[in-house]
Amino acid sequence: MTEPWGSADAMLELPFEGGCACGAIRYRCEAPPFVAYTCHCLECQRLTSSAFATCIQVPAEALSVRGSPARRERVADSGNRITTAFCNGCGSALHSANASRPRLRTVYVGTLDRAADVEVSAHIWAKRRLAWVRLPDGHRVFDEAGDWRPDYADDPTRLAP
Ligand SMILES: [Zn+2]
Ligand SMILES: [Zn+2]
Repeated sequence: MTEPWGSADAMLELPFEGGCACGAIRYRCEAPPFVAYTCHCLECQRLTSSAFATCIQVPAEALSVRGSPARRERVADSGNRITTAFCNGCGSALHSANASRPRLRTVYVGTLDRAADVEVSAHIWAKRRLAWVRLPDGHRVFDEAGDWRPDYADDPTRLAP
């Protein structure tokens, strides 16, 4: 097995919790993340109104949500159908589901109560990153998302469908 990509699992105390900016939506996760990474794709720039999204991936069954998030579906550059849950009251994007990986949820780290406990070590869609963004030495950097899917699928702990 390859090295874990993120050290988030070693840092986050379980269960960990988070929520939107206004507090209407809260979530709790009972399992450690598989991976912690940033995504620099254009969609994530729009989604976060920022330079990149900071994400963890967790088992879907470990994530419970309180409140009623709105949902938006889109087709990513990869062709995957992505449904993002966000708060209708304050606009925070909380998490996403990928139809081709139904057992995973992507949680946006900025919504965690203890976001500072997550340390990312991988970066995807690096070719879209804004010119001023410098990625740390020693981190795994992928030009697109597709580059890391073989690694992902080969590791059974990643819950490939
Ligand atoms: Zn809210
Ligand atoms: Zn993205």
